[in-house]
Amino acid sequence: TVRSKSRAHPEKQGPTGRRPGGGPAARRKVGWVNSKDMKVYKFGGASVRNADGVRNLRKIIDDEQHLFIIVSAMGKTTNALERVFAGVQQGNREAALGEVAALRSYHAEIIDDLWHGHRQLERVDALFDELERVAAETVYRPEEAELRYDEIVAYGELVSTTIISEYLNHAGVANRWIDMRRCLLTEQRHKDAGVDIEASAPRLRSALAGCGETIFVGQGFIGGAPDGTTTTLGREGSDYSAAVVANILDAESMSVWKDVDGILNADPKIFPDAVQIAELNYLDTIELAYSGAQIIHPKTIKPLQNKNIPLYVRPFGDKRKPGTVIRAMSAPVDVPILILKKDQVLLTLRSRDFSFVLEEKFATIFSLLERFRIKANLIHNSAVNLSLCVDRSWHIDEAVGALRGAGFDVMRSDNMELLTVRGYTDELWRRYACGPQVFIRQATQSTVRVVRKRG
Ligand code: ASP
Ligand code: MG
Repeated sequence: TVRSKSRAHPEKQGPTGRRPGGGPAARRKVGWVNSKDMKVYKFGGASVRNADGVRNLRKIIDDEQHLFIIVSAMGKTTNALERVFAGVQQGNREAALGEVAALRSYHAEIIDDLWHGHRQLERVDALFDELERVAAETVYRPEEAELRYDEIVAYGELVSTTIISEYLNHAGVANRWIDMRRCLLTEQRHKDAGVDIEASAPRLRSALAGCGETIFVGQGFIGGAPDGTTTTLGREGSDYSAAVVANILDAESMSVWKDVDGILNADPKIFPDAVQIAELNYLDTIELAYSGAQIIHPKTIKPLQNKNIPLYVRPFGDKRKPGTVIRAMSAPVDVPILILKKDQVLLTLRSRDFSFVLEEKFATIFSLLERFRIKANLIHNSAVNLSLCVDRSWHIDEAVGALRGAGFDVMRSDNMELLTVRGYTDELWRRYACGPQVFIRQATQSTVRVVRKRG
């Protein structure tokens, strides 16, 4: 078929990626899992923030079969769970339990609305009971911050998928709930773990094998570490989960259902006249995501690209609209693209021993940043200075302290943002790349990146 021809290097899958069994009989036993007509649908938190959203999800599925549905936590649940974690961290048990209670009733309302009357779902109650115990009984140790964070925030997706799976069954869409903590094996690293796709493949396949359902509902954002603890894949990581599932199942396509019509060339809240882009290729999409475009999690593209699986970004509100498609080849983008990455800190380093070739110290600097999980979004160097535009992340103060301890003078400017303009025009250059608020400007023929004070 056309599809199997377009698969890039299936022979490179490695031993665990090989089809189980091999002969036609064996293939029939594991059923449709290998049948290549599987689609992966991902629904973000905004699309399932209330009962109407869940009903709409049901409508989008319609009478489709062979679907793997990845769902995020409902609405702003993950933010609320981060506050539960903060309560635990600060030893403020009351605050933590208050947040849990609010989440319990938020979800209970959605359930009642879906079932048209009071309804209690045992499995949802059990999850909230567990979470309550974690919030009440955890003895917090700073060295376990990330571990506890993951343990707590994972409940958002566990709860949302449980509700949605039960609701779909109730509404006549037979499906199986999949525990992604057991299917996606991640690195032994919390809060921003990568998935070991090869090791996860047999786990996921065996979770799907031998059952009558052809629709599956799994959590985005979460996985399990080799030591059995729960991990998360980084904020907004559900896209990445869906891409990993699509890769493992050799899906025909992946669709992300969003509350926008598709990918725009700029955030319309910040830049007027934003327009929709019909097609993008994988590489441009990675560049855009990396620059801070909040279209798709940056880690999403690689698993798709490896199997040449197209990614559709489609409007949740209207299944007939085309959205944006991302694939290997695309028509060239003929509008400039503007991306603003907020919450940046500009660090300027100078070696205290006045060494003129700071490059010799790059290894020290970058391994320190890696240790504190700080990503450099823009790097600018001279003989004696190294400027780094980084996310204002959890460990920024510690990282600055460690850099100072390692013999660097560090100047720090907060309240910065990083603006990227691809395909800039003279007018965009004048408007965005000049002026006193611009601290650093890096330009190529087509792209200019600017570190500027927040306006
Ligand atoms: N619920 C998680 C978050 O809000 C993951 C996701 O939405 O993709 O970050
Ligand atoms: Mg979310």
